[in-house]
Amino acid sequence: VVGTPAGTGRHHVGAEQSLGPYINTLALRLRPEADWSFAQVLEHVTTKTRAAIEHAEVPFEEVVAALSLPRDFSRTPVFQTLFAFRRIEDDGWTIPGLSAAIEPMAQTTIQTDLCCWITEDDGRINIELEYSSALFEKRLVANFLQALQHYLAQATTDCSRPWMRIPLQREAESAALQKAGPQLSGELPGASVTDLIWSAAAAHPTEIAVSSADGSITYADLRQRSLQVAANLGRAGVKKGEVVGLAVARSERLPLAILGLLQAGAAYVPLDPELPSDRLRHIESDSGIRYLVSDLTAEGGAPAFAGQILYLDALESGSGPDDAQLLRECQPGEGDLAYLMYTSGSTGVPKGVEVGHGQVRNLLAAFGDLLSIGRGDVLAAITTVSFDISVLELLLPLCAGARVHVVSERLAADGRLLMEEIEQCGATCMQATPATWRMLLDAGWKGSSNLQVLCGGEALPLTLASELRQSCAALFNVYGPTETTVWSSVARVDENPTAIDIGQPIANTRIYVVDEHLAPVPSGVEGEIVIGGDGVAFGYRGQKALTEQRFLADPFHDGARLYRTGDLGRWLPNGRLEHLGRLDTQLKIRGYRIEAGDVEYNLAISPEVSEVAVSKRTGPQGDERLVAFVVPEQGRELDPISLRRHMRERVPGYMIPQHFVALERLPLTPNLKVDYQRLPGLERLDLRGAQAVPPRTESEKLVAEIWSEFLGADGLSVADNFMELGGHSLLTMKVAAEIARQTGVELGPQDFFSRTLGGMAAQLDANKGSEDTRHRARPSSRVFPQWFPRLLRRFFFKRE
Ligand code: AMP
Repeated sequence: VVGTPAGTGRHHVGAEQSLGPYINTLALRLRPEADWSFAQVLEHVTTKTRAAIEHAEVPFEEVVAALSLPRDFSRTPVFQTLFAFRRIEDDGWTIPGLSAAIEPMAQTTIQTDLCCWITEDDGRINIELEYSSALFEKRLVANFLQALQHYLAQATTDCSRPWMRIPLQREAESAALQKAGPQLSGELPGASVTDLIWSAAAAHPTEIAVSSADGSITYADLRQRSLQVAANLGRAGVKKGEVVGLAVARSERLPLAILGLLQAGAAYVPLDPELPSDRLRHIESDSGIRYLVSDLTAEGGAPAFAGQILYLDALESGSGPDDAQLLRECQPGEGDLAYLMYTSGSTGVPKGVEVGHGQVRNLLAAFGDLLSIGRGDVLAAITTVSFDISVLELLLPLCAGARVHVVSERLAADGRLLMEEIEQCGATCMQATPATWRMLLDAGWKGSSNLQVLCGGEALPLTLASELRQSCAALFNVYGPTETTVWSSVARVDENPTAIDIGQPIANTRIYVVDEHLAPVPSGVEGEIVIGGDGVAFGYRGQKALTEQRFLADPFHDGARLYRTGDLGRWLPNGRLEHLGRLDTQLKIRGYRIEAGDVEYNLAISPEVSEVAVSKRTGPQGDERLVAFVVPEQGRELDPISLRRHMRERVPGYMIPQHFVALERLPLTPNLKVDYQRLPGLERLDLRGAQAVPPRTESEKLVAEIWSEFLGADGLSVADNFMELGGHSLLTMKVAAEIARQTGVELGPQDFFSRTLGGMAAQLDANKGSEDTRHRARPSSRVFPQWFPRLLRRFFFKRE
């Protein structure tokens, strides 16, 4: 709806003698269809304007009153953009004794957000924009004017073109908006990922390449043992190009297993034993794997697998006369598949992203150029192989002659333990999501002046960036989806950041911000981020239609492809990219990528659920929570416990909503889709149920008070369990810290899984009498039963 002033009422007898502008504002509601030609749009505007002028005498105030719109005093009602056309017929008129000329009037205030004045003066057309400087930057408005001018010139040359397809900028300007990253500093050796690493190995054979709490391997050994694994894989029947499952514990042998697989010409697909069996089976059948490489026993948590399990010990031992021949035959190249990474899919099952050696080589080389990492450096690798960012952690140091230190899941999940591990291994580089960096800082980590920090996977909050930047040598905000191979852009964060952006493309990568027709939008204008260049993955395994929908031909580079990220962004005046959220309902929660549709689908198949929408909300501690808004099936009550049980069998732990909120109906948009914007907020929850037993003892009251503060929930019962009330990994850390502060008793993460509120209070009481409470409490919190790492993994570290 655009406002336009119209002269009115002057023709009435009686108006002739009065002073005043006699102008009314008309609201023009224009609804041009996307496929109309510019001529059709003009006709539409003409018809609408004529119709509005017929009613020009209805005062605008009456229109507003009749609409009874909710009043918002920050903006004009009905429209926020005004369009005014005036023709200056004669600017030099005289009356006896007086000559007059029209002078522009300097405006310092504006009535609407944006006002476009078109003046026709002696055949010249001037366009002026008045804008609210609180809303628009001068540079943006200048760009807008330029775009408008270019658009009108194009449109009037050929009015038959579809109006949405007429470019807003010259081709050269469009081209300038396709930001390209730098070129790599040098030629890459060989043709595979392993070639890159063996070339570093040749330069530093005796240096430690990989370490963990359990041992270490030198570069020379790593090469020799990986080649052995590769040859034995070939002997076992693994073919070049075949996808093989990977379920190997986090130790110094994890990179070895991956390199062995890659060297065998195979691609790996991580099989996380903690995934519900349905999901695991889907990944197995979708990826078509026949073999699983593992070092886990059934008791140690190996996933149930129908094909053949190849144990790492056996793969490392024994050689044959045909080893060299086997290795030659399976030698991988740039175009071969390196890994298959499954991510949440909106249809309720995960989708596998296919990434090749060429893409990974580019990533590793780009970050090799960007970071100062070399011999003597140590990268602490904390991310599970189920997430693609582990690829950078496990392989980048090996391309640079540095050491990768593989951190176990147990240590990576606990802020205090991780802090000790980073110090002990002498890390000079580490990558994690904002949630993990926050966990470390909250645990009291003070940073390190020789640590390079990579933070990505989710928006980097400004406060976190400031804290991290102060405490480390360098901070990089890295951005990118799995589909373009780990990271596609990088921003080096200033010492005192005032705003966060995602920087510029990495080497051999192009980024565009486009409208829905894939036309680049001018700088400053919001659009979808699309990514081209050497990192673009092959596509989704076995999903041609979905691949075609998301991976498109690059209109600016013949033969190249682009990936539509679904992320919203805009180019900033400084040439860097700003991330502005999502176009769809994909969510990021504590680093985990979740399609709302995946959770919704799996909830909707429960007989208790009629309709459901899933969204993310912020808890009282600023923490993120997954919330399911559920319309229960008729005649049924919402039962979070049974829904949680239902979900546990179907999705990974991080996809189980922390809260289930019953609604009578879901809010809908005018075209009857769920209106996610209008889903309610997360109010303080009243969890008092019929069975509730209120806290009685001092310790129970204390635990209840602390839980309540962090969960944002009232009416806790001694039978409640922290995780079932919406607790999650980061909150357990915070609550444990608060309980330790108030009582001196240190609790571990498992206390939150296994104990009720009453049980936790009893544990505090049991430790009270002891001389050294900290010491007494530790065995329960720091001694982990064998199953514990698996339990932890389920809830904590899909991402880290
Ligand atoms: P994934 O495929 O799990 O790596 O998730 C990719 C998505 O995470 C992107 O499409 C973004 O929506 C989001 N993302 C990743 N890194 C960043 C970042 N540095 N800032 C903002 N969002 C990010």
